[in-house]
Amino acid sequence: MELLYIAALCGLLIFMNFVGIRAQGQRSPLARALRQLMVMVTVTVAAGMLPVLMPSEAAALFVQCIHYAGTEWLLIFLLRFLEQYTEDVWSKKSAKIIIYSLAVVNSVSMLLNGAFHHIVTCRYTDIGNGVMCYVFMTQKPWYSLHLCFTYVLVACNLGVLIRQSVITTKFYRKKYSVALLMLVITVAMDGVCTIMDYPLDYSLYAYVILAIALTYYSIYYIPQGLITKTLSYVVADSSSGVVCFDVIGKCIYANEMAMSIYGNPSELSAMEPIFRKELGEKEFSNAKEGKWDREFILNGHTLYFDMNFSKLFDEQENYIGCYFILHDKTEDMEKLEREHYRSTHDILTGLFNREYFYECVKKRREMPDEEYYMTCTNIKDFKLINDLFGAEMGDAILIRLAEVMKEALPEGTICGRLESDHFAFCIRKELFQESALIDGINEVARMIPSSEYHILIHIGVYAVQRADYDAAVMCDRANIAIGTVKDSYDCMIAYYDESLMERVMSEKRLVSEFDSALADGQFVMFLQPQVSTAGTVLGAEALVRWMHPQRGMVSPGEFIKAFENAGLIYRLDQYIWDLAAQKLREWKDSGHEDLHISVNISAKDFYYLDIYRTFVDLVEKYDIPPKKLKLEITETALMMDLEKQLVLLDKLQSYGFNVEIDDFGSGYSSLNMLKDIHADVLKIDMGFLRKTQDNERAQIILRMIIELAKQLHMIVITEGVESKAQVDYLTETGCDMFQGFYFARPVAVPEFEQRYM
Ligand code: C2E
Ligand code: CA
Ligand code: CA
Repeated sequence: MELLYIAALCGLLIFMNFVGIRAQGQRSPLARALRQLMVMVTVTVAAGMLPVLMPSEAAALFVQCIHYAGTEWLLIFLLRFLEQYTEDVWSKKSAKIIIYSLAVVNSVSMLLNGAFHHIVTCRYTDIGNGVMCYVFMTQKPWYSLHLCFTYVLVACNLGVLIRQSVITTKFYRKKYSVALLMLVITVAMDGVCTIMDYPLDYSLYAYVILAIALTYYSIYYIPQGLITKTLSYVVADSSSGVVCFDVIGKCIYANEMAMSIYGNPSELSAMEPIFRKELGEKEFSNAKEGKWDREFILNGHTLYFDMNFSKLFDEQENYIGCYFILHDKTEDMEKLEREHYRSTHDILTGLFNREYFYECVKKRREMPDEEYYMTCTNIKDFKLINDLFGAEMGDAILIRLAEVMKEALPEGTICGRLESDHFAFCIRKELFQESALIDGINEVARMIPSSEYHILIHIGVYAVQRADYDAAVMCDRANIAIGTVKDSYDCMIAYYDESLMERVMSEKRLVSEFDSALADGQFVMFLQPQVSTAGTVLGAEALVRWMHPQRGMVSPGEFIKAFENAGLIYRLDQYIWDLAAQKLREWKDSGHEDLHISVNISAKDFYYLDIYRTFVDLVEKYDIPPKKLKLEITETALMMDLEKQLVLLDKLQSYGFNVEIDDFGSGYSSLNMLKDIHADVLKIDMGFLRKTQDNERAQIILRMIIELAKQLHMIVITEGVESKAQVDYLTETGCDMFQGFYFARPVAVPEFEQRYM
């Protein structure tokens, strides 16, 4: 009987230590605490069963005391283990010191029992059926002290576990409840054995089983279980769809996401044909692992997925199943699309931006057989529109123009906004419809609610002859075509031809020669007389001529625009103004101070110069009356920033200058502007008479303008008069002065002086 009892215990101890050694691999504090606990269990249990075998009473008492002391330490180590297991620091340092001190005192007391027998004594007695055994008799109060301490420790251990079981979530409760149950069983068995006073302590089994159970649960079962369970939650909760199939291809799992992607089928088995189709009707086990893109339409939204197919193998490389992961990359794709859109489109109009437009045109070159047009648009004085009507109106015009283009142009046309008001499109030649485009553009032009200002949009067309040209070159050519009509108020569309290119090149040459020409004095002032109705020369207009060493005399019509575009005109103008002022001074000194000279001020001069200061300095420098240096300003230059210009005019006039409105009637002219601008002279361009078919009507208008100017107390001068008839008619209508070939062409200054002075 005893032998069986001992053999069974030994067997359990060996098994426990075997399990413990396997846990050795784990370097965690938990595994360490567990091994320490096992050492204590081994010592305590061994000491508990050994008295049966002891040869003498003293030896039996000694091992029994070791058992008592061992029990206390075992419970302390159990507490330490639970501290790790629950990850809950179970007591303060002071409490630990008390517990350890008490255990040491008790242990010493146990060791002294051999001398004093104050804890336990024993007798070798027949316990029935002739079985001889040591029977122990405990002694008060020392044994009671041990018992109390032991129960306090048991209570601490139970307390820790109960507390954890209560405060933890259901998910983790199992982790503690199993340990709690084992401890309760052990304590109960110990209690039963003590009360029943069995000579053999069967509760020792419970100690060992407790240790084994704790090892199994703490090191293997619970962590593994928790991992599995946690993972299953992760998978179920994942934003990716997960579908698993077993070895025979039966769907065993599909998470919520996967089900929703496939319309929430009621049976998992519905997944099988779907995924077999994904693999091209192959068996899962034969299909190749891989990744591919998939699109789904859910509630009208397109969703983009990465579909991953992987197979599962056991340790022996046997196929055991497979799974699909559907990773939703819609957000990434949308972000990518947004970024791509932003990097390729103009945000304001939604058309392609310059870079992308060029890129698309470049791609079109790959179809060299197709004939197509590169077409560019330009809004005349777009800056002026922004200034006059606000940036919002400017934006609205751009947006509408883009819309109109999209509507008017057939599909397949590449449309882009190159910069500010410059749009471009590349269109198949046979699809290009000039009228549709012009209708659209006229609609945009009507957006400005002002009768005084009209938007002018010009279109330049380049018929692509060489497909290997860069898009930028094609656009340049379309823009060169625009250059030929950009000052025109009726001609909206212009086609590029090679002669234009020559003109551009020649302009470029002129610009490059400007500096040296100015320094060499190649620019000369010509004078064209301005004559009264009585035929008296009252003064002259200064008109520049370029005495070019190779080309001879070049007229301003050939270079003024180029210099304006190159930002050079202000230097030429300053030079001519100086010549004019200098001449006035000479005339003043020679007694001809009654003659005046009118000088031209380009619209661009207002950007570069302080006009007021420049002219004041000039008349002060040569000491001439400002009234004799007349200033010709075109209406367009005045309209650029009307309010500012009015202030400037006022200042100039207060100083004594006479201001003339030049070219009135040549551009778009508004009678309305006359009400704001208090100019001294209105210079009417005869050109607008020449252009019309209906001479009678034109004459009526001319007469009205002259009458109006007179009522506004302006002097009227008509330029471009070529015939006596014109002079007679204009004199009769009330015109004050004339300038024109009828009287004289512009001539060099010495000739002018010779003829008229
Ligand atoms: P504009 O200010 O309107 O000057 C009058 C132009 O009409 C001159 O052309 C003159 O030669 C021309 N003209 C005069 N009488 C007649 C006529 O009876 N019939 C015709 N068909 N034409 C006549 P020009 O000298 O070739 O100058 C052209 C334009 O160049 C000027 O037009 C003016 O805008 C500009 N310009 C000339 N010199 C200067 C200058 O020094 N500075 C600036 N900024 N522009 C200038
Ligand atoms: Ca002029
Ligand atoms: Ca003029």
